[in-house]
Amino acid sequence: MQFIDLRSDTVTQPTPEMREAMANAPVGDDVYGEDPTINQLQAEAAALFGKEAGLFVASGTMGNLCSVLTHCGRGDEMIIGKQSHIFRYEVGSAAAYGGVHPNTLEVRRDGTMDLTAIRDAIRSNDEHEPSTRLICLENTHGGASGAPLSAEYVAQVAEIARQHHLKLHIDGARIFNAAAALNTPVSELCRHADSVTFCLSKGLSAPVGSVIVGSRDFIRRAHKVRKSLGGGMRQAGILAAAGLVALRTMPQRLHEDHLKARALAEGLAQMSYLELDLESVRTNMIFFTLAQDAPVSLAALSRRLKHEFNILANPYNDARREFRLVTHTWIKQEDVETILEAFRVILLSERAASPAASD
Ligand SMILES: *Cc1c(COP(=O)(O)O)cnc(C)c1O
Repeated sequence: MQFIDLRSDTVTQPTPEMREAMANAPVGDDVYGEDPTINQLQAEAAALFGKEAGLFVASGTMGNLCSVLTHCGRGDEMIIGKQSHIFRYEVGSAAAYGGVHPNTLEVRRDGTMDLTAIRDAIRSNDEHEPSTRLICLENTHGGASGAPLSAEYVAQVAEIARQHHLKLHIDGARIFNAAAALNTPVSELCRHADSVTFCLSKGLSAPVGSVIVGSRDFIRRAHKVRKSLGGGMRQAGILAAAGLVALRTMPQRLHEDHLKARALAEGLAQMSYLELDLESVRTNMIFFTLAQDAPVSLAALSRRLKHEFNILANPYNDARREFRLVTHTWIKQEDVETILEAFRVILLSERAASPAASD
């Protein structure tokens, strides 16, 4: 059965061109640095980001962990958003494996952290305090409706980092969505970052993998950390081949996903019982809340979308009555109207069926 899957852009499947490239990829032992396809992907990624070197890793989580462990030692501190993926959704791995202490700051609705708050969070030389080593940003910020961070903002944070001899890591899982939304190349958005992780397997639609980019020295050290995490993958050029197609062909089409998100959001914003801030829809994510007096529960909405309309959409936060929808290449333009009609039918029919809404 064919579902319209709005749960995430991670559900995107490899294109025929990717499968073909995977089947034909020249490979070698990457632990010896001898996989030509991986080497090509790493070189192209580094060039695109204006960095010296790249490192292919199994996932975004591994890329972030590898980067944090390369920048920080045990007991060191990283300044990081309370709503960030690294802090919320990576199993506390930086603390678990690296003893890295997170100093969390509130993320605002536009995905930024207050610059004064960042400055204030940096530790002094007081012997009671941990040593601050790293600032982490997320671009686009998934915990802030997929908001893109501007090159100016990143430069301001980088300046604070530079003044205090700290490193700057960007979790750029969806950095190409930021580049599309802001019409700014990734090299510009990441110019001042010491390391960046980006995902090949989200909107770019590759089946597996992320890439870390940074200086040659940083990547050499990260390579060793990757090995220690079990991330030396031998003939993984099979995977990198799909990543190369993703990197070369998919960034250019991400604005289409943003247009679909905008069209969907504009339709949803008209509907009773849905609260949606259109200004928050900047990339491929739509967040909305179900009003308290809505005649349908979060779970029932999700269930009916699936069983009656073949639409997959999950509640994002039950306590806040929040839903998240994500657009990607497998959502077609004509699906937008199908999705809107499904919401209309469910919200209206439930209303008619509800004794409390007999007007
Ligand atoms: C998906 C994601 C990651 C992690 O990627 P995985 O490949 O799922 O481990 C990291 N950061 C952000 C912002 C993400 O959206």
